[in-house]
Amino acid sequence: MIDETHDPSAISWVESANDAETDFPLANLPFGIFRHDFEERPRVGIAIGDRVLDCLSAVQGGLFSGLDPAVRDAMASWTLNPLMALGRHDARDVRRVVHRLLRTDTPEGNRAHAVAADILASTDSIGMRVPAEIGDYTDFYASVFHATNVGSMFRPDNPLLPNYKWMPVGYHGRSSSIVASGTAVRRPRGQTVASPEGPPVVTPSSRMDYELEIGAYVARGNRQGDVIALSHAEEHLFGLCLLNDWSARDLQQWEYQPLGPFLAKNFATTVSPWVVTLDALEPFRVPAFARPAGDPAPLPYLDDAADRTRGGFGITLEVWLRTAAMRAAGLPAECLSRGSFASMYWTLAQMLTHHASGGCNLRPGDLMGSGTVSGPERGTRGCLLELAWRGQSPVTLSTGETRAFLHDGDEVTLRGRCERDGYRGIGFGPCSGELMPPLA
Ligand code: CA
Repeated sequence: MIDETHDPSAISWVESANDAETDFPLANLPFGIFRHDFEERPRVGIAIGDRVLDCLSAVQGGLFSGLDPAVRDAMASWTLNPLMALGRHDARDVRRVVHRLLRTDTPEGNRAHAVAADILASTDSIGMRVPAEIGDYTDFYASVFHATNVGSMFRPDNPLLPNYKWMPVGYHGRSSSIVASGTAVRRPRGQTVASPEGPPVVTPSSRMDYELEIGAYVARGNRQGDVIALSHAEEHLFGLCLLNDWSARDLQQWEYQPLGPFLAKNFATTVSPWVVTLDALEPFRVPAFARPAGDPAPLPYLDDAADRTRGGFGITLEVWLRTAAMRAAGLPAECLSRGSFASMYWTLAQMLTHHASGGCNLRPGDLMGSGTVSGPERGTRGCLLELAWRGQSPVTLSTGETRAFLHDGDEVTLRGRCERDGYRGIGFGPCSGELMPPLA
Protein backbone atom coordinates (compact mmCIF):
# COMPACT_ATOMS: atom_id res chain seq x y z
CA MET A 1 0.00 0.00 0.00
CA ILE A 2 3.09 2.22 0.04
CA ASP A 3 3.14 3.77 -3.42
CA GLU A 4 4.50 6.76 -5.36
CA THR A 5 2.39 9.13 -3.23
CA HIS A 6 4.65 8.36 -0.25
CA ASP A 7 7.88 9.04 -2.19
CA PRO A 8 9.91 11.37 0.06
CA SER A 9 11.89 12.72 -2.91
CA ALA A 10 8.83 14.03 -4.79
CA ILE A 11 8.95 17.83 -5.15
CA SER A 12 5.89 20.05 -5.43
CA TRP A 13 5.66 23.24 -7.45
CA VAL A 14 3.90 24.64 -4.37
CA GLU A 15 7.12 25.73 -2.66
CA SER A 16 5.80 25.72 0.91
CA ALA A 17 4.88 22.04 0.56
CA ASN A 18 8.60 21.16 0.35
CA ASP A 19 9.37 22.71 3.73
CA ALA A 20 10.46 19.93 6.12
CA GLU A 21 8.32 21.46 8.88
CA THR A 22 5.01 21.67 7.04
CA ASP A 23 2.15 19.46 8.17
CA PHE A 24 0.94 19.28 4.57
CA PRO A 25 3.67 18.04 2.20
CA LEU A 26 2.85 16.14 -1.02
CA ALA A 27 2.77 12.92 1.00
CA ASN A 28 -0.22 14.10 3.07
CA LEU A 29 -2.97 15.61 0.86
CA PRO A 30 -5.73 15.76 3.51
CA PHE A 31 -9.29 16.60 2.53
CA GLY A 32 -11.30 19.46 4.01
CA ILE A 33 -14.20 21.80 3.33
CA PHE A 34 -13.52 25.51 2.98
CA ARG A 35 -15.34 28.66 2.00
CA HIS A 36 -13.85 31.54 0.01
CA ASP A 37 -14.27 35.03 1.51
CA PHE A 38 -16.23 36.01 -1.62
CA GLU A 39 -18.91 33.29 -1.70
CA GLU A 40 -21.21 31.33 0.60
CA ARG A 41 -20.88 27.94 -1.07
CA PRO A 42 -18.45 25.60 0.65
CA ARG A 43 -15.99 23.66 -1.51
CA VAL A 44 -13.82 20.58 -1.17
CA GLY A 45 -10.18 21.49 -0.60
CA ILE A 46 -6.91 19.59 -0.30
CA ALA A 47 -4.19 21.14 1.85
CA ILE A 48 -0.76 21.52 0.25
CA GLY A 49 1.88 23.50 2.15
CA ASP A 50 0.30 26.83 3.08
CA ARG A 51 -2.15 26.63 0.16
CA VAL A 52 -5.40 24.81 -0.53
CA LEU A 53 -6.25 23.09 -3.80
CA ASP A 54 -9.74 24.28 -4.74
CA CYS A 55 -11.28 21.06 -6.04
CA LEU A 56 -14.37 22.66 -7.62
CA SER A 57 -12.10 24.90 -9.71
CA ALA A 58 -9.93 21.91 -10.57
CA VAL A 59 -13.00 19.97 -11.73
CA GLN A 60 -14.23 22.95 -13.76
CA GLY A 61 -10.77 23.41 -15.25
CA GLY A 62 -10.73 19.82 -16.48
CA LEU A 63 -7.86 18.79 -14.21
CA PHE A 64 -9.78 15.82 -12.78
CA SER A 65 -10.73 14.36 -16.15
CA GLY A 66 -8.88 11.16 -15.22
CA LEU A 67 -11.32 10.44 -12.39
CA ASP A 68 -14.63 8.56 -12.59
CA PRO A 69 -17.60 10.93 -13.10
CA ALA A 70 -19.02 9.94 -9.69
CA VAL A 71 -15.71 10.83 -8.04
CA ARG A 72 -15.54 14.13 -9.92
CA ASP A 73 -19.06 14.93 -8.70
CA ALA A 74 -17.97 14.15 -5.14
CA MET A 75 -15.01 16.52 -5.52
CA ALA A 76 -17.40 19.27 -6.67
CA SER A 77 -19.66 18.76 -3.62
CA TRP A 78 -19.97 21.03 -0.57
CA THR A 79 -19.30 18.29 1.99
CA LEU A 80 -17.02 15.26 2.10
CA ASN A 81 -19.93 12.85 2.61
CA PRO A 82 -20.21 11.86 -1.08
CA LEU A 83 -16.48 11.07 -1.27
CA MET A 84 -16.65 9.21 2.04
CA ALA A 85 -19.64 7.21 0.74
CA LEU A 86 -17.70 6.14 -2.36
CA GLY A 87 -15.07 4.66 -0.08
CA ARG A 88 -11.36 4.27 0.42
CA HIS A 89 -10.61 3.05 -3.10
CA ASP A 90 -11.94 6.18 -4.80
CA ALA A 91 -10.29 8.48 -2.27
CA ARG A 92 -7.03 6.70 -3.13
CA ASP A 93 -7.61 7.47 -6.83
CA VAL A 94 -8.06 11.15 -5.98
CA ARG A 95 -4.87 11.05 -3.96
CA ARG A 96 -2.87 9.60 -6.89
CA VAL A 97 -4.31 12.13 -9.36
CA VAL A 98 -3.72 15.10 -7.05
CA HIS A 99 -0.21 13.94 -6.26
CA ARG A 100 0.63 14.03 -9.99
CA LEU A 101 -1.07 17.42 -10.36
CA LEU A 102 1.02 19.00 -7.64
CA ARG A 103 4.42 17.53 -8.61
CA THR A 104 7.05 19.39 -10.59
CA ASP A 105 8.04 16.47 -12.80
CA THR A 106 4.79 15.37 -14.47
CA PRO A 107 2.88 16.74 -17.51
CA GLU A 108 -0.21 17.06 -15.28
CA GLY A 109 1.85 19.08 -12.82
CA ASN A 110 3.05 21.46 -15.53
CA ARG A 111 -0.51 21.97 -16.67
CA ALA A 112 -1.79 22.63 -13.16
CA HIS A 113 1.13 24.94 -12.33
CA ALA A 114 0.20 27.08 -15.35
CA VAL A 115 -3.26 27.71 -13.87
CA ALA A 116 -2.11 27.90 -10.24
CA ALA A 117 -3.89 31.19 -9.62
CA ASP A 118 -7.22 29.59 -10.56
CA ILE A 119 -6.95 26.43 -8.48
CA LEU A 120 -5.03 27.41 -5.35
CA ALA A 121 -6.45 29.39 -2.46
CA SER A 122 -4.37 31.08 0.19
CA THR A 123 -5.20 29.86 3.68
CA ASP A 124 -5.71 33.42 4.93
CA SER A 125 -8.52 34.17 2.45
CA ILE A 126 -10.66 31.16 3.30
CA GLY A 127 -12.56 29.77 6.27
CA MET A 128 -12.52 26.11 7.21
CA ARG A 129 -15.70 24.18 8.00
CA VAL A 130 -16.54 20.95 9.77
CA PRO A 131 -15.68 18.69 6.82
CA ALA A 132 -18.72 16.41 6.79
CA GLU A 133 -22.36 16.44 7.71
CA ILE A 134 -21.86 14.30 10.78
CA GLY A 135 -25.00 12.26 11.30
CA ASP A 136 -23.84 10.52 14.45
CA TYR A 137 -20.94 11.02 16.78
CA THR A 138 -19.73 8.38 19.24
CA ASP A 139 -16.99 8.88 21.79
CA PHE A 140 -14.92 5.97 23.09
CA TYR A 141 -12.66 5.61 26.14
CA ALA A 142 -9.84 3.60 24.62
CA SER A 143 -6.80 4.65 26.68
CA VAL A 144 -6.40 2.27 29.60
CA PHE A 145 -4.11 4.85 31.24
CA HIS A 146 -6.78 7.55 31.07
CA ALA A 147 -9.48 5.14 32.23
CA THR A 148 -7.32 3.98 35.14
CA ASN A 149 -6.32 7.51 36.18
CA VAL A 150 -9.86 8.88 36.08
CA GLY A 151 -11.30 5.73 37.63
CA SER A 152 -8.85 5.90 40.53
CA MET A 153 -9.93 9.49 41.32
CA PHE A 154 -13.59 8.58 41.56
CA ARG A 155 -13.39 4.91 42.62
CA PRO A 156 -10.04 4.42 44.35
CA ASP A 157 -10.79 0.80 45.22
CA ASN A 158 -12.05 -0.14 41.78
CA PRO A 159 -10.56 2.14 39.11
CA LEU A 160 -11.10 -0.06 36.06
CA LEU A 161 -14.58 -1.54 35.67
CA PRO A 162 -14.85 -5.26 34.76
CA ASN A 163 -15.93 -4.62 31.15
CA TYR A 164 -12.96 -2.42 30.22
CA LYS A 165 -10.56 -5.03 28.85
CA TRP A 166 -13.32 -6.93 27.06
CA MET A 167 -14.87 -4.20 24.90
CA PRO A 168 -14.10 -0.68 23.71
CA VAL A 169 -16.64 1.20 25.83
CA GLY A 170 -18.19 4.40 24.52
CA TYR A 171 -21.24 6.63 24.62
CA HIS A 172 -23.34 8.22 21.93
CA GLY A 173 -22.38 11.88 21.70
CA ARG A 174 -23.93 14.92 20.11
CA SER A 175 -23.12 15.92 16.53
CA SER A 176 -25.02 19.25 16.43
CA SER A 177 -22.44 21.01 18.59
CA ILE A 178 -19.31 19.87 16.75
CA VAL A 179 -17.39 22.93 15.57
CA ALA A 180 -14.30 23.51 13.45
CA SER A 181 -10.98 24.64 14.88
CA GLY A 182 -10.90 28.37 15.54
CA THR A 183 -14.46 28.55 16.86
CA ALA A 184 -14.72 30.06 20.35
CA VAL A 185 -16.39 27.82 22.95
CA ARG A 186 -18.59 29.23 25.68
CA ARG A 187 -18.29 27.98 29.25
CA PRO A 188 -21.56 26.14 29.98
CA ARG A 189 -23.87 26.51 32.96
CA GLY A 190 -25.36 23.54 34.67
CA GLN A 191 -26.16 21.70 37.88
CA THR A 192 -23.22 21.41 40.22
CA VAL A 193 -23.06 20.17 43.79
CA ALA A 194 -20.92 21.03 46.80
CA SER A 195 -21.37 17.57 48.30
CA PRO A 196 -21.99 14.24 46.59
CA GLU A 197 -25.60 14.06 47.81
CA GLY A 198 -26.51 17.54 46.58
CA PRO A 199 -28.58 19.64 46.52
CA PRO A 200 -27.42 21.15 43.23
CA VAL A 201 -27.29 24.78 42.18
CA VAL A 202 -27.15 26.07 38.61
CA THR A 203 -23.82 27.83 38.03
CA PRO A 204 -21.27 28.30 35.28
CA SER A 205 -18.95 25.30 35.30
CA SER A 206 -15.85 26.01 37.38
CA ARG A 207 -14.05 22.86 36.30
CA MET A 208 -13.64 23.24 32.55
CA ASP A 209 -11.32 20.82 30.81
CA TYR A 210 -10.17 19.72 27.37
CA GLU A 211 -9.70 16.14 26.20
CA LEU A 212 -7.01 15.32 23.62
CA GLU A 213 -8.48 12.79 21.19
CA ILE A 214 -8.26 11.44 17.66
CA GLY A 215 -11.45 11.56 15.59
CA ALA A 216 -12.14 9.01 12.84
CA TYR A 217 -14.63 9.54 10.00
CA VAL A 218 -16.59 6.60 8.65
CA ALA A 219 -16.28 5.97 4.89
CA ARG A 220 -18.69 3.39 3.49
CA GLY A 221 -21.31 2.40 6.02
CA ASN A 222 -23.11 -0.85 6.72
CA ARG A 223 -26.77 -1.78 6.45
CA GLN A 224 -28.75 -1.93 9.66
CA GLY A 225 -28.54 -5.47 10.95
CA ASP A 226 -25.22 -6.17 9.22
CA VAL A 227 -21.95 -6.35 11.08
CA ILE A 228 -18.44 -5.29 9.99
CA ALA A 229 -15.73 -7.93 10.37
CA LEU A 230 -12.58 -6.63 12.01
CA SER A 231 -10.58 -7.76 8.98
CA HIS A 232 -12.61 -5.33 6.82
CA ALA A 233 -13.04 -2.53 9.34
CA GLU A 234 -10.41 -0.22 7.89
CA GLU A 235 -12.15 -0.16 4.51
CA HIS A 236 -14.90 1.67 6.43
CA LEU A 237 -12.53 4.26 7.93
CA PHE A 238 -11.99 7.31 5.74
CA GLY A 239 -9.47 9.30 7.74
CA LEU A 240 -8.50 10.91 11.00
CA CYS A 241 -8.55 14.35 12.60
CA LEU A 242 -7.77 15.86 16.00
CA LEU A 243 -10.67 16.23 18.40
CA ASN A 244 -11.09 18.21 21.62
CA ASP A 245 -13.92 16.81 23.73
CA TRP A 246 -14.49 19.88 25.94
CA SER A 247 -15.68 18.66 29.34
CA ALA A 248 -17.29 20.35 32.33
CA ARG A 249 -16.02 18.10 35.14
CA ASP A 250 -18.30 19.48 37.87
CA LEU A 251 -21.41 18.92 35.75
CA GLN A 252 -20.10 15.50 34.77
CA GLN A 253 -19.53 14.35 38.33
CA TRP A 254 -23.14 15.03 39.37
CA GLU A 255 -24.90 13.80 36.23
CA TYR A 256 -22.86 10.87 34.93
CA GLN A 257 -24.43 8.03 36.88
CA PRO A 258 -26.19 5.92 35.76
CA LEU A 259 -26.29 6.77 32.04
CA GLY A 260 -22.96 8.50 31.36
CA PRO A 261 -21.98 12.01 30.26
CA PHE A 262 -24.73 14.32 29.06
CA LEU A 263 -24.62 18.13 29.43
CA ALA A 264 -21.01 17.96 30.65
CA LYS A 265 -19.92 17.20 27.09
CA ASN A 266 -22.73 18.08 24.70
CA PHE A 267 -22.19 21.86 24.49
CA ALA A 268 -19.15 21.77 22.16
CA THR A 269 -16.64 19.44 20.52
CA THR A 270 -13.85 20.93 18.37
CA VAL A 271 -12.39 19.11 15.36
CA SER A 272 -9.38 19.98 13.23
CA PRO A 273 -10.71 20.70 9.74
CA TRP A 274 -8.34 18.53 7.67
CA VAL A 275 -9.06 14.82 7.35
CA VAL A 276 -5.81 12.87 7.02
CA THR A 277 -6.59 9.71 5.08
CA LEU A 278 -5.56 6.24 6.15
CA ASP A 279 -3.55 6.10 2.92
CA ALA A 280 -1.49 9.12 3.99
CA LEU A 281 -0.94 7.43 7.36
CA GLU A 282 0.20 4.15 5.81
CA PRO A 283 3.94 4.59 6.60
CA PHE A 284 3.14 5.35 10.24
CA ARG A 285 1.19 2.22 11.14
CA VAL A 286 2.39 0.39 14.24
CA PRO A 287 1.30 -2.73 16.10
CA ALA A 288 -1.75 -2.59 18.32
CA PHE A 289 -1.03 -1.98 22.00
CA ALA A 290 0.69 -4.98 23.59
CA ARG A 291 -1.63 -6.24 26.30
CA PRO A 292 0.24 -6.93 29.53
CA ALA A 293 0.50 -10.55 30.66
CA GLY A 294 -2.62 -11.50 32.55
CA ASP A 295 -4.99 -9.34 30.50
CA PRO A 296 -7.70 -11.26 28.68
CA ALA A 297 -7.28 -11.89 24.96
CA PRO A 298 -9.91 -10.04 22.91
CA LEU A 299 -13.00 -12.05 22.02
CA PRO A 300 -12.80 -13.55 18.50
CA TYR A 301 -14.83 -10.79 16.82
CA LEU A 302 -12.36 -8.21 18.22
CA ASP A 303 -9.26 -10.16 17.26
CA ASP A 304 -7.53 -10.16 13.89
CA ALA A 305 -3.90 -10.92 13.03
CA ALA A 306 -3.48 -7.87 10.78
CA ASP A 307 -5.04 -5.59 13.40
CA ARG A 308 -2.63 -6.95 16.01
CA THR A 309 0.34 -6.39 13.69
CA ARG A 310 -0.53 -2.93 12.40
CA GLY A 311 -3.77 -1.73 13.97
CA GLY A 312 -2.11 1.23 15.71
CA PHE A 313 -1.04 4.64 14.45
CA GLY A 314 2.27 6.26 15.42
CA ILE A 315 0.92 9.77 15.89
CA THR A 316 2.63 12.09 18.38
CA LEU A 317 -0.02 14.24 20.03
CA GLU A 318 0.48 17.49 21.93
CA VAL A 319 -1.63 19.94 23.89
CA TRP A 320 -0.66 23.62 23.87
CA LEU A 321 -2.13 26.33 26.07
CA ARG A 322 -2.07 30.08 25.54
CA THR A 323 -3.65 32.11 28.30
CA ALA A 324 -5.05 35.62 27.97
CA ALA A 325 -2.01 36.88 29.93
CA MET A 326 0.36 35.16 27.48
CA ARG A 327 -1.46 36.76 24.56
CA ALA A 328 -1.34 40.19 26.22
CA ALA A 329 2.41 39.80 26.80
CA GLY A 330 3.01 38.54 23.26
CA LEU A 331 4.17 35.17 24.57
CA PRO A 332 3.70 31.97 22.57
CA ALA A 333 1.60 29.01 23.65
CA GLU A 334 3.14 26.51 26.06
CA CYS A 335 3.15 22.73 25.63
CA LEU A 336 1.29 20.97 28.46
CA SER A 337 1.67 17.35 27.38
CA ARG A 338 3.04 15.12 24.64
CA GLY A 339 1.89 11.54 24.12
CA SER A 340 1.37 8.93 21.45
CA PHE A 341 -1.75 7.51 19.89
CA ALA A 342 0.11 4.18 19.80
CA SER A 343 -0.58 3.85 23.54
CA MET A 344 -4.34 3.17 23.05
CA TYR A 345 -5.62 -0.12 24.45
CA TRP A 346 -8.15 -0.56 21.61
CA THR A 347 -7.57 0.11 17.91
CA LEU A 348 -9.87 2.28 15.80
CA ALA A 349 -10.78 -0.82 13.80
CA GLN A 350 -11.84 -2.62 16.98
CA MET A 351 -13.95 0.41 17.98
CA LEU A 352 -15.69 0.46 14.61
CA THR A 353 -16.30 -3.30 14.55
CA HIS A 354 -17.63 -3.29 18.10
CA HIS A 355 -19.90 -0.31 17.30
CA ALA A 356 -21.56 -2.19 14.44
CA SER A 357 -21.45 -5.63 16.09
CA GLY A 358 -25.01 -5.47 17.36
CA GLY A 359 -26.35 -4.43 13.97
CA CYS A 360 -26.04 -0.65 14.38
CA ASN A 361 -25.70 0.95 10.96
CA LEU A 362 -22.80 3.38 10.54
CA ARG A 363 -23.12 5.99 7.83
CA PRO A 364 -20.58 7.91 5.73
CA GLY A 365 -19.46 10.97 7.65
CA ASP A 366 -20.20 9.53 11.09
CA LEU A 367 -17.50 10.46 13.58
CA MET A 368 -15.88 8.32 16.26
CA GLY A 369 -13.76 9.90 19.01
CA SER A 370 -11.00 7.72 20.45
CA GLY A 371 -11.33 8.90 24.02
CA THR A 372 -8.66 10.91 25.80
CA VAL A 373 -5.19 9.86 24.69
CA SER A 374 -3.06 9.40 27.80
CA GLY A 375 0.07 7.34 28.30
CA PRO A 376 1.69 5.99 31.45
CA GLU A 377 3.88 9.02 32.29
CA ARG A 378 2.63 12.28 33.76
CA GLY A 379 3.77 14.30 30.72
CA THR A 380 1.58 12.19 28.45
CA ARG A 381 -1.74 12.82 30.21
CA GLY A 382 -4.28 14.16 27.74
CA CYS A 383 -6.54 16.29 29.95
CA LEU A 384 -6.14 18.73 32.86
CA LEU A 385 -8.19 16.51 35.17
CA GLU A 386 -5.33 14.00 35.01
CA LEU A 387 -2.41 16.46 34.65
CA ALA A 388 -3.48 18.45 37.72
CA TRP A 389 -4.92 15.34 39.37
CA ARG A 390 -8.43 16.59 40.05
CA GLY A 391 -7.12 20.02 41.00
CA GLN A 392 -4.72 18.72 43.68
CA SER A 393 -1.49 19.55 41.79
CA PRO A 394 -2.14 22.50 39.49
CA VAL A 395 0.06 22.97 36.45
CA THR A 396 2.46 25.95 36.72
CA LEU A 397 3.01 27.92 33.52
CA SER A 398 6.05 29.97 32.49
CA THR A 399 4.13 33.15 33.35
CA GLY A 400 3.75 31.95 36.94
CA GLU A 401 0.06 31.33 36.35
CA THR A 402 -1.35 28.02 37.55
CA ARG A 403 -4.09 25.86 36.11
CA ALA A 404 -6.16 23.24 37.87
CA PHE A 405 -8.88 23.74 35.26
CA LEU A 406 -9.27 26.15 32.33
CA HIS A 407 -9.82 29.89 32.76
CA ASP A 408 -11.84 32.10 30.42
CA GLY A 409 -9.58 33.37 27.65
CA ASP A 410 -7.47 30.18 27.60
CA GLU A 411 -6.83 28.98 24.08
CA VAL A 412 -6.25 25.22 23.81
CA THR A 413 -4.52 23.89 20.69
CA LEU A 414 -4.06 20.22 19.89
CA ARG A 415 -1.35 19.15 17.44
CA GLY A 416 -0.57 15.80 15.81
CA ARG A 417 2.45 14.75 13.80
CA CYS A 418 3.82 11.52 12.27
CA GLU A 419 7.51 10.98 11.61
CA ARG A 420 9.45 7.98 10.37
CA ASP A 421 12.92 7.63 8.87
CA GLY A 422 12.76 7.42 5.09
CA TYR A 423 9.41 9.21 4.84
CA ARG A 424 8.15 12.76 4.78
CA GLY A 425 6.69 13.78 8.14
CA ILE A 426 3.02 14.71 8.00
CA GLY A 427 0.73 16.50 10.44
CA PHE A 428 -2.87 17.34 11.13
CA GLY A 429 -2.80 21.14 11.38
CA PRO A 430 -4.06 22.77 14.58
CA CYS A 431 -7.24 22.00 16.49
CA SER A 432 -7.82 25.21 18.49
CA GLY A 433 -10.51 26.79 20.55
CA GLU A 434 -10.66 29.66 23.03
CA LEU A 435 -12.81 29.34 26.13
CA MET A 436 -15.22 32.25 26.47
CA PRO A 437 -17.07 33.38 29.60
CA PRO A 438 -20.64 32.13 30.10
CA LEU A 439 -23.54 34.25 28.89
CA ALA A 440 -24.70 36.64 31.59
CA1 CA B 1 -13.95 12.04 25.63
